[in-house]
Amino acid sequence: HFGATVRAPQNLPLPGIKHVVAIASGKGGVGKSTVAANLAVALAQEGAAVGLLDADIYGPSQAQMFGTQTQKLMVDDQKRIVPLERYGIKLITIANIVPPGQAMVWRGPILHGTLRQFLHEVAWGELDYLIVDMPPGTGDVQLSLAQLTKVSGGVIVTTPQDVARIDAERAADMFKRVQVPLLGVIENMSYFEQGGERIHIFGQGGGRRMAEAHKTAFLGEIPIAVAVREASDAGVPVVLSAPHSPEAQALREVARAL
Ligand code: ADP
Repeated sequence: HFGATVRAPQNLPLPGIKHVVAIASGKGGVGKSTVAANLAVALAQEGAAVGLLDADIYGPSQAQMFGTQTQKLMVDDQKRIVPLERYGIKLITIANIVPPGQAMVWRGPILHGTLRQFLHEVAWGELDYLIVDMPPGTGDVQLSLAQLTKVSGGVIVTTPQDVARIDAERAADMFKRVQVPLLGVIENMSYFEQGGERIHIFGQGGGRRMAEAHKTAFLGEIPIAVAVREASDAGVPVVLSAPHSPEAQALREVARAL
């Protein structure tokens, strides 16, 4: 019955889940999924019980980031979806349901039904945090999430660059409209470090300025680094694959600031 449209329960808290945190961005490609994966693992490393819901239904990347591409989601005897478990995280992504290469050509109501199932019909168990990797932009899934459950807060990922920041402003506005508190702004790809020097490839200070404009917390900056990209491609988030690297430390600091 996957993707069915069923009348949605309105704004229900998820039993057993303390905080639902949405990770959003205006534009794609700013590292939202990478940051969401690393935050989830970093929170688990601190001892929290963490789930990660990949709500980027049209462009899911968490199976790649966690190396679960060949696994399939199963249902238990109560017909609930059983999340995959990886690096201490419970993971749900459409990529472990729909075969790779098959496009999700779905209209809004089906997206809504899928998200409803991912929230309310998964054996999540007891969680301190359910991290939701949102699709980029301000579309159906953003509205559905706010309707389907009580979201504790939203976090915006942006790069320092103006084109990313301008779209990120819309994402911040979207949280306001759906009455989700904005927890803060994370700036990704803030600088590249070479020979002790910081090169600001995408400009400087955009994330902090955005946080100030929205009177919200600036949660930190994460450098652009080969290890981050390699780790994601290899299916092991950098906070695990290179825990002592400056980029992993930056990601852990952001997780602590949450
Ligand atoms: P989004 O979810 O915003 O579309 P992704 O997380 O998929 O973005 O990241 C886009 C690309 O950039 C990926 O190839 C990812 O590995 C890479 N990437 C993200 N953050 C960093 C970083 N801090 N350093 C290096 N590469 C990064």
